[in-house]
Amino acid sequence: MSRFATSADDLPFLFEAHHAAVGAAAGEVAAGWRVDDGDDRARTRAAALALAEAGLLGWCVPKAYGGCAPERLDVRALTLVREALGQADGLLDTAFAMQGLGSYPITLAGSPAQKARYLPGVLDGSRLGAFALTEPEAGSDVASMRCAARRDGSGWVLDGAKTFISNAGIAGQYVVFAQTDPSARGRGIAAFVVEPDDAGLGVEPLEVIAPHPIGTLRFDDVALAPDRLLAPPGEGFKLAMRTLDAFRNTVAGAALGMARRALDEAVGRAAARVQFGKPIIEQQQIGAYLAESATELDAARLLVYRAAWARDTREDRVSSEVAMGKLFATEAAQRIIDRAVQIFGGLGVTRGVPVERLYREVRALRIYEGTSEIQRVIIAAALRARVGEGGAR
Ligand SMILES: Cc1cc2nc3c(=O)[nH]c(=O)nc-3n(C[C@H](O)[C@H](O)[C@H](O)COP(=O)(O)OP(=O)(O)OC[C@H]3O[C@@H](n4cnc5c(N)ncnc54)[C@H](O)[C@@H]3O)c2cc1C
Repeated sequence: MSRFATSADDLPFLFEAHHAAVGAAAGEVAAGWRVDDGDDRARTRAAALALAEAGLLGWCVPKAYGGCAPERLDVRALTLVREALGQADGLLDTAFAMQGLGSYPITLAGSPAQKARYLPGVLDGSRLGAFALTEPEAGSDVASMRCAARRDGSGWVLDGAKTFISNAGIAGQYVVFAQTDPSARGRGIAAFVVEPDDAGLGVEPLEVIAPHPIGTLRFDDVALAPDRLLAPPGEGFKLAMRTLDAFRNTVAGAALGMARRALDEAVGRAAARVQFGKPIIEQQQIGAYLAESATELDAARLLVYRAAWARDTREDRVSSEVAMGKLFATEAAQRIIDRAVQIFGGLGVTRGVPVERLYREVRALRIYEGTSEIQRVIIAAALRARVGEGGAR
């Protein structure tokens, strides 16, 4: 088994027979992937092709449309894949995540013609996906979005901006959420598919602290034919939330992978590094750091796969369980990686050392697909609903 394979064996009560093979296949891709400082955009394209070659992108698309996933997707499989990829390279992990996040709205709401046009390229890695929700003035408060969609004959025209959009500039399709009636907030939001060569679409790249193809999209009177409407006004917000419901848990999977890699690196370094005549792993404080990290990682795995199991096996919404998993796993991963850097000493902040890279890669996971604060809002709303005061979602 590859060094980066994820194991479903230690939590048999949460997994099904096929999950072990999914983790092993993702581990093979991770082990064969070379991390380097090359161009993020070219590396993302190569990553999508490698993931397709291994059959992993099939987990982003249901069987009915050429993939291998069930209709509601298999969140345990998606989370296991991200856990394996996150151990190797954040960029490889993002490439996988975006094929799912950028295509699932089409799976959920697309017409047969839209599915036929966009999903085959998602599966073979030739068409990169993008999910454009965030705006310069509308981040956590999605319903306050201002990017405008107005009717023009039978078609639509988009005006406005989206920012922090992964795969901006390299996507073959952008799922774009836009407002048709600002006074209606969420009830006015529609969704569209925008293609890269649509007239009036502009892309401005952004640079973030770890490799990640990302940028701002500008829509300047972008005219869209009627067949680009994915969700009519009022359905776009629900479509975005249903998509995030499926993929938010996988962000926690990536955090588990990054944390696991950091812990492995820290144990290895602590056993090898001799100070004061003995390996530092024999120093009580270092042992305590490692013990804390191992415990937090196991606790995070339990929460994350409990949520994935609930999502896969229950019909009702499991937003609170998923929020707990994302909150705990991403925050714990940050602590685990920070301890690993500390155990490495000066080497830990040296450019190119895995724990230094992980330190930069993990940071965004506490922000995207709902910040840690928003996860607490979701959990608190569920608690309030339990005592009959009514929840926020
Ligand atoms: C690497 C990366 C990739 C991304 N990829 C995508 C993508 O592909 N598509 C996309 O649409 N977006 C993407 N995003 C955007 C991301 O989803 C947003 O950054 C995130 O939702 C937060 O929005 P914001 O940055 O505007 O922060 P804000 O919403 O302005 O929040 C700022 C701070 O205020 C806090 N806050 C806000 N509201 C509350 C509240 N009610 N209670 C308590 N605290 C609150 C937040 O938690 C945060 O700490 C990406 C972001 C990053 C960093």
